[in-house]
Amino acid sequence: MTRLLIVGPQGSGKGTQGVRVAEAFGIPAISTGDMFRAAVSGGSDLGNQVKAIIEAGDLVPDSLTSAVVRDRLAQDDAAEGFLLDGYPRNLGQVGDLDAFLQGRDEQLDAVIELSVPRDESISRLSLRAQEQGRTDDTEEVIANRLGIYERETAPILDVYRERGIVDAIDGVGTLDEIEQRIIAALEARGLVRTADV
Ligand code: ADP
Repeated sequence: MTRLLIVGPQGSGKGTQGVRVAEAFGIPAISTGDMFRAAVSGGSDLGNQVKAIIEAGDLVPDSLTSAVVRDRLAQDDAAEGFLLDGYPRNLGQVGDLDAFLQGRDEQLDAVIELSVPRDESISRLSLRAQEQGRTDDTEEVIANRLGIYERETAPILDVYRERGIVDAIDGVGTLDEIEQRIIAALEARGLVRTADV
């Protein structure tokens, strides 16, 4: 049973590391951004509701986002744990997740805070913009997303720090080095991985 969050600014590499760490602990990596993008490309009702919001780099309303996450966490593969990437993203969503987990008599084991200097994250994002062409990776939209991260998302770390569950990880290095740092921090909390890395 391992229940994790990974939090970090755009360009911190949280998506990549989230997938790696989830695999090491045998739990699903659940990314709200990936779920929303899949809904948009699939043309579902949800996709139609969130398309313009994502393209502007704004936050999807909490009620909708939290409902999507609750549905996903209710699936069988998340019964033994999960790693959430990109959720919660503000204090309202922290409250929603707390209420959901309390209802299941569960709690978070650790919050991975992935930090990179601003220059580094901006250069990674412009590289990603060239490689992947994500519609929300234009200069203007990136600035909006980073601003929202600083104003709304960074404060959630204070809440989790007070609970003593935050592991601050240096996000500069090779992918393997960063993954090892995260795994070492989680193992130091007594969390047990299921796969060799
Ligand atoms: P990034 O972290 O690079 O901004 P994500 O893939 O995590 O990318 O998210 C992409 C977009 O999806 C966000 O800009 C936002 O519009 C939407 N989104 C993702 N997660 C949430 C969330 N927890 N609450 C509200 N909106 C979200």
